[in-house]
Amino acid sequence: MKITIVAGARPNFIKIAPIIKAIEKKQNEGATISYRLVHTGQHYDKNLSDTFFEELNIPKPNSNLEVKSGSQAEQTGAIMVAFEKELQQNPCDLVLVVGDVNSTMACAIVAKKQNIKVAHVEAGIRSGDMTMPEEINRIVTDSITDYFFTTSTSASENLLKYGVDKANVHFVGNVMIDTLYQNLDRIFEPKFWNEFELETRNYIILTLHRPSNVDEEQSLIQLLQGIDKLAGDKKVIFPIHPRTKAILGETNLDLKNILFVEPQGYLNFMYLIKNSFAVITDSGGISEETTVMGIPCFTMRNNTERPETQSIGTNTLVGTSIENLEKHFGEFLQNGGREAGIPELWDGKSSERIIEILLKY
Ligand code: UDP
Repeated sequence: MKITIVAGARPNFIKIAPIIKAIEKKQNEGATISYRLVHTGQHYDKNLSDTFFEELNIPKPNSNLEVKSGSQAEQTGAIMVAFEKELQQNPCDLVLVVGDVNSTMACAIVAKKQNIKVAHVEAGIRSGDMTMPEEINRIVTDSITDYFFTTSTSASENLLKYGVDKANVHFVGNVMIDTLYQNLDRIFEPKFWNEFELETRNYIILTLHRPSNVDEEQSLIQLLQGIDKLAGDKKVIFPIHPRTKAILGETNLDLKNILFVEPQGYLNFMYLIKNSFAVITDSGGISEETTVMGIPCFTMRNNTERPETQSIGTNTLVGTSIENLEKHFGEFLQNGGREAGIPELWDGKSSERIIEILLKY
């Protein structure tokens, strides 16, 4: 079986790393399976791309489509045009896409139109929020996927509700967590650890990059000022996403606790999360990682496509207003974090399950 694996953005790199390892393991056991890695170039900053390839030992892509940034349509269109040529020149039996970025949807469409089977890893999750580009990417991708790999039973149920054939829906767990388990003994402190006088549990991690939180400069500034205040005596480490940085530009903010740093590599970032007091974020992936590491997470969104991080894990959905964050964070300061567990099959073996299943098709 010849598989083309697509990755375009930071969370994709974290998800494909263990899948590639699982394929290589099967190859060593003598299975007839090969892969070709295509990087669409959606994320191209060193901080968001190269660092992850190096740290997670992901092989150099066989092809880089170098699409770079653009509007939603420009980027999606550019990926489709380039990926069509890529597939014509390098035919395969299956295209494997992960997550919910533009590359996921664009490459799924191109593959399907060339009558190539599509496997979607992290299929079936839904926020119900059609203002999120990611939700549209998920729905479109799942509408043409052949083999669905899900992180939760609720994601599988969503797919069945849409009429997907049960035989093609596989609840396998979470590949992002495979990467976490594979690297927990490699994480290390960032260079600024001593300079900022960080100690285990004496700081908060903040990440914000979703349009609903960052696209309007004034409300972003108010949010940052509010977070700066609620942090009390804790420092707030804020690895600033390029999108958020572009909005803030050169604005000089008078913040006491928030310390701006570059987007972190995976190994430093996981170290920071693991040792933090709490995390404030609008990321989906981070709410999964905090769940597994048992770190309280406050998600600045009105909805989540990962409900198990709330019902089982450490995630609290707080909405996008600073008042709501203050309320939930205040309760946490008073009562402490709540009892939490790890969702089913988030055990580090999901990628191996995926490859086992694909080999049977
Ligand atoms: N991440 C990282 N360094 C950072 C911020 C994030 O390594 O400075 C990792 C982290 O593991 C997270 C993943 O990147 O789970 C994806 O994060 P992002 O918020 O970009 O994407 P989302 O999960 O919201 O799609």
